[in-house]
Amino acid sequence: MNLNSEHFPQRPAWVEIDLARLRRNLQLIRRDLPREVKLLAIVKDEAYGHGALDIARIAIEEGAWGFGLSTLEEAMVLREAGITSPLLLLGERQEAELEWCVAHDLTVCVNEPLTVRKLARVAAGFEKQVPVHVKIHTGMSRYGVRWDEALPLIEQILSEKSLRLEGVMTHFSQSDEAEKTFANLQFARFNEVLRALEQRKISVKLRHTCNSGGFLDLPHAHLDMVRVGILMFGVFPSSVCRRIPGIEPVMSVKAQIAAIQKLKPGEVVGYGMRYTAPGERRIAILPIGYGDGFPRVRNQGDVLLHGKRAPIVGGIAMDALMVDITDIPEAQMWDEAVIMGRQGGDEITVHDMAKLKNSVSYEVLTSWRLRLRRKSVNNEQKAARQFVNAELR
Ligand SMILES: *Cc1c(COP(=O)(O)O)cnc(C)c1O
Repeated sequence: MNLNSEHFPQRPAWVEIDLARLRRNLQLIRRDLPREVKLLAIVKDEAYGHGALDIARIAIEEGAWGFGLSTLEEAMVLREAGITSPLLLLGERQEAELEWCVAHDLTVCVNEPLTVRKLARVAAGFEKQVPVHVKIHTGMSRYGVRWDEALPLIEQILSEKSLRLEGVMTHFSQSDEAEKTFANLQFARFNEVLRALEQRKISVKLRHTCNSGGFLDLPHAHLDMVRVGILMFGVFPSSVCRRIPGIEPVMSVKAQIAAIQKLKPGEVVGYGMRYTAPGERRIAILPIGYGDGFPRVRNQGDVLLHGKRAPIVGGIAMDALMVDITDIPEAQMWDEAVIMGRQGGDEITVHDMAKLKNSVSYEVLTSWRLRLRRKSVNNEQKAARQFVNAELR
């Protein structure tokens, strides 16, 4: 018997990643975009908690031009796995990182003169001409050079022989709400910069502004490329943005019943005794808790068991949560519960979880800790293709 660590049984709680749904979402997004608009798949933070490598491999097959990432480490994981697509680092780079970026062909956003100079010197040292993107802040006041101060920086880039201005971009602070006034103001500011470039006969291959919300609701702002993150994972950025039928969530969270307790009236559950049984009750214990990223709530929320809702009772522990299964008598030890996702005809959505956390869907996806193994399912490329084509025809 092989008892080394590669073969030990996995814990009975996990995150399931449905790769057929991912593929289908990507196909639906690709189909919705004009052919000439490129797709930059945003896979920062382990592809919003889904596991960047699996997601990137499928996104390449489904026509993504390249990937957007936040950190050098994230980009290096993809490069070292053999991914040769363009990788755009979205944030700000420290000087020490520039050599790595040039050596491994990672595309950098440059937002200030000093970085331009340093990157140019590093690139020259490698005898390379490296592509750069300029991030223009048009109102969000995060990264980037102000729209009304962008031209000198762009001219500086053009004067450096070892740099090639490949892209100019901006980012919307509000693209998924019904109210588009501020997004349109930002786009107008961005266009001022584009017009100034045209007047100087400076052509830029990739002008890009849209995240998922912009891709859905600001088609006039698609320009040469869109940067899609959350929608690829089957989650709409808000409840009011445009819907694309067929887009479905890629991530589910599951756990198996690891203990069952029978309570007599008046007995209590969990730390702080926050739940008291009003009558005889049957309680199931699931081996997943706030240490896995479940919000630290009390007597709030449900899980699905046998397609029915089992309410959470008591407080969430680090490694356990308790649910009332009195009305689900068929529930037994090691039955599979759905914490987030679909079971039978019911579903606990990412937005339901966001409500429970007092947060947004983005944080729900990224806060499932990596101690929950990511288990990929439905990775049958050919079968998935036929299924999608048949269904969309
Ligand atoms: C994260 C990010 C995106 C993707 O946003 P979604 O709303 O997930 O599509 C796009 N652009 C930039 C600059 C980002 O940081």
